[in-house]
Amino acid sequence: MSDSTQSFENFKLNKQILEAVKEANYESPTPIQERAIPLMLAGHDLLGIAQTGTGKTAAYLLPLLFKLRYAQGEHPRALILAPTRELVMQITEEAVKFSKYTDLRIVSLYGGLGPKGQIEQLQAGVDMLIATPGRFMDLYKRGEVYPRDIKTMILDEADKMLDMGFLPQIRAILEVIPVKKQNLLFSATFSEKVEALSHEFLEFPERVEIAPQATTADTVGQVYFLTPNLKTKINLLAHLLKDQKLQRVIVFAKSRRNAEDVYKFLERSGGGEVRVVHANKGQNTRINAMEEFKEGNIRVLVATDVAARGLDITDVSHVINFDVPLIYEDYVHRIGRTGRAQKKGKAISFVNPAEVYHFDRIQQIIRMQVPLKSIPQEVAVPKTPFEEQQGYEREIDDQKKKEDPNFKGGFHEKKARPKPKPSARTPLSKGKRKSKKNRNQLKQKGKWKK
Ligand code: AMP
Repeated sequence: MSDSTQSFENFKLNKQILEAVKEANYESPTPIQERAIPLMLAGHDLLGIAQTGTGKTAAYLLPLLFKLRYAQGEHPRALILAPTRELVMQITEEAVKFSKYTDLRIVSLYGGLGPKGQIEQLQAGVDMLIATPGRFMDLYKRGEVYPRDIKTMILDEADKMLDMGFLPQIRAILEVIPVKKQNLLFSATFSEKVEALSHEFLEFPERVEIAPQATTADTVGQVYFLTPNLKTKINLLAHLLKDQKLQRVIVFAKSRRNAEDVYKFLERSGGGEVRVVHANKGQNTRINAMEEFKEGNIRVLVATDVAARGLDITDVSHVINFDVPLIYEDYVHRIGRTGRAQKKGKAISFVNPAEVYHFDRIQQIIRMQVPLKSIPQEVAVPKTPFEEQQGYEREIDDQKKKEDPNFKGGFHEKKARPKPKPSARTPLSKGKRKSKKNRNQLKQKGKWKK
């Protein structure tokens, strides 16, 4: 990792929040976090143009939690409005995760179920409210929400709220909330409607726009494989590396644990010199690995996005995305490592069933269809272990619900899970727990994190 890489420690957040960030396995801030967190901490109104997948949720949650600090009084001091129940639940999940070392009381309000439980929670005292506009207004009218103490208000996915016709409710809410407060508006697009709302809602806002970096070098040939499970990814990786045309390869994994596991596998399988770089490796180890890689002494470098950011590695013949990145712009960064300086490069992505959703979004961002390749016959494609399969199904359900709040996830219904998990969290580790063979190949302890 280069010295220029920001760290969460550099923000003026407190120990409790930083500890939770560390546990979430966030190694360094995403661009929107880098820019929005200091602005929000400084008290500015903010207009954030950023899509899901940029890390926008933590960009506003972390400074907000810092500002709220600890439980105080009975009434909410912050309000986050989001268009759908699913989004409210996702934001709540993140907020609960990052506030785990505080006593802050977070209550979410959304429709689709009776208000009794939500009213009880409100009556028990609340610091942060996360709500859909409709339910918020219902409970306000019943006298269950006291909005006079709200000092920070955030509209998330404002464009979607406007598309869903929530403008009257948003206006009604603004009527009952103190005018003097910090306001933030996040939207994936900056349409005329959003612009009009931003004038109504924000005062001298700072604008932070994270335009997805949409250009991929023409010199990079991109392909992807649909890999039904983790074991197939491993087999395919081993197979591809048999080809000596892959002279200098970076294999990208989404977490340091995955990077370490892939590295150990490659080391054992003897496909040439291999090194790994991730944030847990000391600076010197990383620099040495990089130098050796650059000099051509090492054929394969396994890396996380964070570790690779800012490293000027040119002349890479192949980039292999062992995992699809969840921060979509990282895809462009990753493949930018190959095909530099007019050299032809190749970018190969392994996409498991739950990653198809993310890979589709990436293709939208880069505005191209990446060709699909079939898995070569020589590569063994073992059956997906039951638990791994369940993990994928659960994630896919969550993705569908995200797109369509009315989607009744078959998996959720059957298993009656209390609330959806954030996507792309656990499936592989679950699969591995089941499969002894996989476990031996990728020794994984604890839970699977990005
Ligand atoms: P969002 O754009 O807020 O929906 O976030 C997209 C995904 O990126 C979520 O799964 C987050 O948990 C994850 N994420 C956000 N910030 C970071 C970070 N700094 N490092 C790693 N993952 C992150």
